Amino acid sequence: MTDKRSKALIMFSGGQDSATCLAWALDKFDYVETLGFNYEQRHSIEMQCRQRVLANMRAAFPNWTGTLGDDHIIDLSALGAMSDTSLTRDVEISLSEEGLPNTFVPGRNLIFLNFAAALGYRRGLTTLIGGMCEADFSGYPDCRIETLNAQMKAISLGMDRTFTLETPLMHLSKAQAWALAHELGGQGLIDLILEDTHSCYKGERKVRHDWGYGCGTCPACDLRAKGWESYSRGL
Ligand code: ZN
Repeated sequence: MTDKRSKALIMFSGGQDSATCLAWALDKFDYVETLGFNYEQRHSIEMQCRQRVLANMRAAFPNWTGTLGDDHIIDLSALGAMSDTSLTRDVEISLSEEGLPNTFVPGRNLIFLNFAAALGYRRGLTTLIGGMCEADFSGYPDCRIETLNAQMKAISLGMDRTFTLETPLMHLSKAQAWALAHELGGQGLIDLILEDTHSCYKGERKVRHDWGYGCGTCPACDLRAKGWESYSRGL
């Protein structure tokens, strides 16, 4: 018997964007599996937060519990070993001459998509979901829609199966992403994202700001703080 439920595989890192995407996916699809990549991030904190978000999403939203399926972790330590960036080495976060933060792992999303599709192929999940966002981080060329469309075409040809990619946050600002989270899960989801997701490049979780945990000074914290401030003003 064919399973006619709508199904998807979401790339879920445990950050604000992917948690919002996960809620979006649980709201839209009948069945969702999650995928995380382990590539020697400087801080395993992100992986811990990831598990906490999943557990609390199940606990706090009973409507979504039956929709949230298996979680997968793929080890991509080769990516960490070859990348000389702030995410993977203990160096200062700065901007390169091209204006790209040196946290940028060249082509990271392209690599992620290939692995996600390979897993999706085996799991029967041809709809992939990712939190890529063009609006805030235009410095990342592998987050742009042209790049992603080309990659999805190559994957579909290369695997001889039609894969689609959903990027619900693509054109949203960080403030609009908070608004989307509120629309999907109310204040309960906002609180979960504030408390459990991780964005800070430095892995700092000692200080709780009104926008969540973080060092408060790195580009990721800065973006998150500004997005929260702008969202809060609009309430
Ligand atoms: Zn930070």
